[in-house]
Amino acid sequence: MILLSAPNIAGNEWKYVKDCLDTGWVSSVGSYVTRFEEMMAAYTGSAHAVACVNGTNALHIALLLQGVEAGDLVIAPNITFIASINAIKYCGASPVLVDIDPGTWQMDITLLEAFLSEDCHQNDDGKTIHTATGKKVAAILPVHVLGNVADINSLCTLAAFHQIPVVEDATEALGSTYNGRHAGSFGQMGCFSFNGNKIITTGGGGMIVTDNPELAARAKHLTTQAKADPFEYIHDEVGYNYRMVNVLAAMGVAQMEKLPSFIERKKEINQYYRQHLCNLGDIQFQQIQPEADINFWLFTFRTAQNQSLLKRLNLAGIQSRPFWKPMNQLPMFVTDIYLTRNNYSDIIYKECISIPSSTFLTNNELEQIVEQISNHFSSTPEHD
Ligand SMILES: *Cc1c(COP(=O)(O)O)cnc(C)c1O
Repeated sequence: MILLSAPNIAGNEWKYVKDCLDTGWVSSVGSYVTRFEEMMAAYTGSAHAVACVNGTNALHIALLLQGVEAGDLVIAPNITFIASINAIKYCGASPVLVDIDPGTWQMDITLLEAFLSEDCHQNDDGKTIHTATGKKVAAILPVHVLGNVADINSLCTLAAFHQIPVVEDATEALGSTYNGRHAGSFGQMGCFSFNGNKIITTGGGGMIVTDNPELAARAKHLTTQAKADPFEYIHDEVGYNYRMVNVLAAMGVAQMEKLPSFIERKKEINQYYRQHLCNLGDIQFQQIQPEADINFWLFTFRTAQNQSLLKRLNLAGIQSRPFWKPMNQLPMFVTDIYLTRNNYSDIIYKECISIPSSTFLTNNELEQIVEQISNHFSSTPEHD
């Protein structure tokens, strides 16, 4: 089986994890946690980084720290992995789901702008209120879908104008930049994931980055049960057990050492696929904004034949997956606000297919994959 996006563990992982095991520093205190945080902060150009158990709870904490409360609204794209919207719900808030741009597959900023200027007003405290429901728009949660970068400059300008904080879901976009600046470093806080399928992995893990020292300190506090005294068990609020453990951070340090080579390989894979698939059938690629230099985490393309192609590739031992079902179509979120003109989310969902993009893919495997896809298009009719 050629896997979709599998971990590449070929560096110092064994050495650093063994070091934790040898010294007994396996849990939530240890030098690798600090080292991993320092590496992530330096790499993304952020002043601070706080390691968490996974990307979902990194998002949860970041939203809480931006003041998202029960009954609030948080703006997010309609096409994302469920974790983004779940994190909003953990705060007791509801999403305002925004349809995507059909080219980049990122949140459509024009819909966001229309919502903020036409459907919302500012109250006496300077808060943005959704006029129809009276709810506060507490945060905007852009997602850098598939490692591509959302229209982040326009989004942040718009957010600043309306005085709404931005938390970036950069869980798929470690190493992606926009005008040379790292995804995750544009908003008040940015979140990363080190789940097994991401560009680097700690098995499971997450990170919050921010330039604000108080927010970083608060994030560390909230993720460690809000312990308020170094010796006594005194806690000053309801905290969470969300802190990454040293043995996983050790893996993270080793993976960070390899990140530049991983990105290089992802770019080669992307280039190979684009070059060899561009003239096949009705295939269309995700558009990348000229300002963006992205990590090409997971190669995904559009074709009306995606269902039969999915079947063919998986039968041939080439692990391939459909795109996420749009959030507004899931039972938990059907009653939430969905901003759209053309429901592009549905079209993109119905046509997209992700194919193997692991960094250790061999050129021979890439050839096999392209051959299968090419055979498919020379042997089937235009539509499923
Ligand atoms: C992976 C992912 C997350 C969550 O990360 P976990 O570490 O798996 O909790 C959140 N949002 C998006 C878009 C993701 O792809």
